[in-house]
Amino acid sequence: MNTTQKRKVYVQDVTLRDGNQALKKPWTIREKEVVFDLLVDLNVDGIEIGFPSSNQTEFDATKLLAARAPKSISIAALTRANRNEIQTTWEALQHAANPRMHIVFPVSAFAIENVLKISYEQVLEKIYDSVSYARTLVGKDIQIQFSGEHFGDAMENLDFATKAFLTSIEAGANIINLPNTVERYRPMLFVDMVKHVVSRTPEGIRVSVHAHNDLGMATATTVESFYAGASQIEVALNGLGERAGNTNLYETAIALHQCGEDVGIRFHRIYPTAKRISELTNIPIGEKTPVIGEDIFSHRSGIHQDGVAKTVGKKKGAYRTFTPEFVGRNDEETISFTNQSGARAIRFLFEKEGISMREEEIQELFHKAKEVSSREGNREIGIEELSLWRKEIQPTADSGVL
Ligand SMILES: [Zn+2]
Repeated sequence: MNTTQKRKVYVQDVTLRDGNQALKKPWTIREKEVVFDLLVDLNVDGIEIGFPSSNQTEFDATKLLAARAPKSISIAALTRANRNEIQTTWEALQHAANPRMHIVFPVSAFAIENVLKISYEQVLEKIYDSVSYARTLVGKDIQIQFSGEHFGDAMENLDFATKAFLTSIEAGANIINLPNTVERYRPMLFVDMVKHVVSRTPEGIRVSVHAHNDLGMATATTVESFYAGASQIEVALNGLGERAGNTNLYETAIALHQCGEDVGIRFHRIYPTAKRISELTNIPIGEKTPVIGEDIFSHRSGIHQDGVAKTVGKKKGAYRTFTPEFVGRNDEETISFTNQSGARAIRFLFEKEGISMREEEIQELFHKAKEVSSREGNREIGIEELSLWRKEIQPTADSGVL
């Protein structure tokens, strides 16, 4: 496979399945509809809407969302590798204009020997039987995705895991998904395994990755897997998912976009989507969370403030990757004053209010602000307070424009 050729990133979202199944209070059908519409607005390529054979609510939600989906978005539902569950899944999923059957079965030696306790030959038989059954059921034009669960653990049986994927392709799968079901090692070990499978995969078969974030490296793993030849990335809104979650959609999409890739996401929908998902899950967004954290466009140290002030409004900022507007935020890149800040911050804060001042006046306010901040626990000093001090220092200062 020629990995230097420009490929589109295929964004497959799993929030409604992997994300939902890990919530303390899984979503109602109505809530699932809201999330579904947010995903359509974001313009993802595919949505995994549920696990219909797991319970009646999931079945009903899958059926409803499948029928709601536009043809441009492929709609997946997950099933285990047995005929009854595949049949139930298809009953719910067939209402989609563009359905995708997603079958999962473990491929790591650890899971086969300790959890399944069946022979390797039986694993291949099970994969072949379930995928070929699904192919007969859905017909030749419907997508079938096969996931080899625990692929990230399969380094000691990588040739077998590869054979398991090739077996699924022989049986009729069009997409093979390589999950890092539990993140245990460094990203490049996983990426090398992805390369191994990609180099043995026939043309025309899409390779996908699905990473979990147990060690906080899922974004890195997913981004680098794209460059190893995986064109589909499985991601979730707000990084939802089992344990520490799935790969975060926002971070991954922006990282690939920054590298010049065609991601197809409506980036300005990111922030409103993240806020809504936070409400729908009761999971707050951390202040320092990349892309969506409240505090990520604030600059408090003197050196940074100087660079920010000189590049504010430019596409490339001295101390930021993207502008707030790019991800749909109304807040601006801000400079705040603490005892770490420079005199530049004082000028910036007043200029933002349309007030320009002489250098001596700025220096005087700077020294006072620095002294007060240091004395009072290094606290932040706002423009309101600075304006009051300015009037005290220079009682004649009116609206202040010199
Ligand atoms: Zn998962």
